[in-house]
Amino acid sequence: MTAAVPIKAMAAAMPIEPRLSGAPQRPLLTLAGVAKTFANGTAALTGVNLRILPGEFVSILGASGCGKSTLLRLISGLMAPSSGIIDWPQSTYDATGQAEPALGFVFQEPTLLPWRTVTENVYLPLLLTGVGKSEAQGRIDQALDQVGLRGFAHSYPRQLSGGMKMRVSIARALVTNPKILLMDEPFAALDEITRSKLNDELLDLFARKGLTVIFVTHSVYESVYLSNRIIVMSSRPGRVMADVPIAMPYPRNEEVRTSPQYNESCRMVSTALRAAMTSAPAGP
Ligand code: ADP
Repeated sequence: MTAAVPIKAMAAAMPIEPRLSGAPQRPLLTLAGVAKTFANGTAALTGVNLRILPGEFVSILGASGCGKSTLLRLISGLMAPSSGIIDWPQSTYDATGQAEPALGFVFQEPTLLPWRTVTENVYLPLLLTGVGKSEAQGRIDQALDQVGLRGFAHSYPRQLSGGMKMRVSIARALVTNPKILLMDEPFAALDEITRSKLNDELLDLFARKGLTVIFVTHSVYESVYLSNRIIVMSSRPGRVMADVPIAMPYPRNEEVRTSPQYNESCRMVSTALRAAMTSAPAGP
C-alpha cells in the first residue's frame, strides 16, 4: 500500500482558507485501501487511502486512464470497490441501512434528454425520487438561478451552447441540494474562454452554497486555480502519489491566474504529476 507524499512548500507562507481553519474536523469521507479490478482483469486502482474534509475543494489529477473516473464512481456508489473501505462518517442512513451522503454528480458530457426542456431536465432527479412537479418548481427555479439560466427554462438542449448545456447539468446536480459535488472533467470539452468562465461560476457556487467538491481533471492549471488541495494519481493502477495543498486564498480571479503564487503552484503540481506518472507500478 502506498502512502500519500505531502508537499507542503507553498502552504506555510500563505493565508489559510477560513472554512478550513479552526478545530480539527471530522472527515466527510474516508477511503482505506480501496482497489478496483474490473471483470476483464484491468486493475484500475490499488491501495487508495484518502480523507476528504467538509468544505474542501479537492481535485483528483492524473493522466488519462489512471483511474480517476473509476475513483469518482466508487465514491458515488455507482460501482463497488473490489477491496477496501469507503466510509461516510457523517452520513445519515436510509431504511435499508444504506448511507445517504447527499451527493450531486456532474459527468463529462451534459447528458441532457434532448426531448425535454431545461426545466424538465433539471426536474429529473426529483422526479426519480418521487417529488411532485408543484413542490419541485421552486427548487428548479432556484437551481436555474444559481447557474444563470432562469431565462432559458423552456428552451430545449439543442437551442443551447455547450457551456449552457453544462450549466443545466450543474443545475440538475444542485436541485437535490447536495452537500458534496462530484465532477468528472465537466469542462474538458469546452473552449478555453467558456471553461475559464465556468471555473469562476463553480467557485462562486462553492463559496455561496458551502459545498465540498471532488473534481476530476487532467489539467494542472485548472486544478490549481480551483482547488485548495490536489490529489495526484500514479499511472494505472492508480494510487495516490501526492497530496498537495494549494493555500491561495479565495475568491480567485484573473489576478490570481497571473500571480507568482499560481505559477509556482502549477510548477510544483506539474513536477509531482511527472514524478507520479513515471513511478514504478504498485507491487502485487
Ligand atoms: P481516467 O478517468 O483516469 O481516464 P478511468 O477510471 O476511466 O480512467 O479508467 C481506468 C482504467 O480502467 C482504464 O484502463 C479503462 O480502460 C479501464 N476501465 C474503465 N472502466 C472499465 C470497465 N467497465 N471495464 C473494464 N475496464 C474499465
